[in-house]
Amino acid sequence: MKYQEYKELSDAMEQAAHKFYQLRYQMSNGGNLSMRAPGHDWMLVKATDVAFDEVCADTIVVTDFDGNLIEGNRKPSKEALLHGAIYRELPEVCAIMHCHSPYATAWADKHETLDFSTRHSEMKLGGNVPVFDTHSYAVPKEYFPMILEEFRKNKEMNAFLLRGHGQVTVAGTMREAAYLAELVEETAQISLLAGR
Ligand SMILES: [Zn+2]
Repeated sequence: MKYQEYKELSDAMEQAAHKFYQLRYQMSNGGNLSMRAPGHDWMLVKATDVAFDEVCADTIVVTDFDGNLIEGNRKPSKEALLHGAIYRELPEVCAIMHCHSPYATAWADKHETLDFSTRHSEMKLGGNVPVFDTHSYAVPKEYFPMILEEFRKNKEMNAFLLRGHGQVTVAGTMREAAYLAELVEETAQISLLAGR
């Protein structure tokens, strides 16, 4: 990566992605994660067709919020546009985790929101984790306003689920975004085990 000042950010992305691959929260080459590049309307984002265990400085690209390449010679993930729209809307968000974790995805199949099955999740997950049905393997642009509107309505919102797809969490740091995604997955697992 040419931009040496982004090394700390790409290291944080690498660490989170490898952990999620080991946890089996993201298998194969789907999912995406990104971080805001300080001082620019740019983001560091995983390249397309890269598995989470392959995320490193060479497989992360820098793009603007419309997904146009600033640095790197790979195409950005198809989900980059959604991440850019979220960074544009929410200046406090500096990291986004998106994965197809199994329990969260299973929960989204038949529910409209994530039930808070633990006190911990109730406290940490911003009062509401909505489920959006975006009818595609990557969130199409026409669904962005609906998702951004939900963030406007609920300032505490930091996670949402995508039916037939996975989950997305947003935070100030990659560590925090990853913790939120783990909590979403744990909460969905407990809710399903409890027969909700
Ligand atoms: Zn996805």
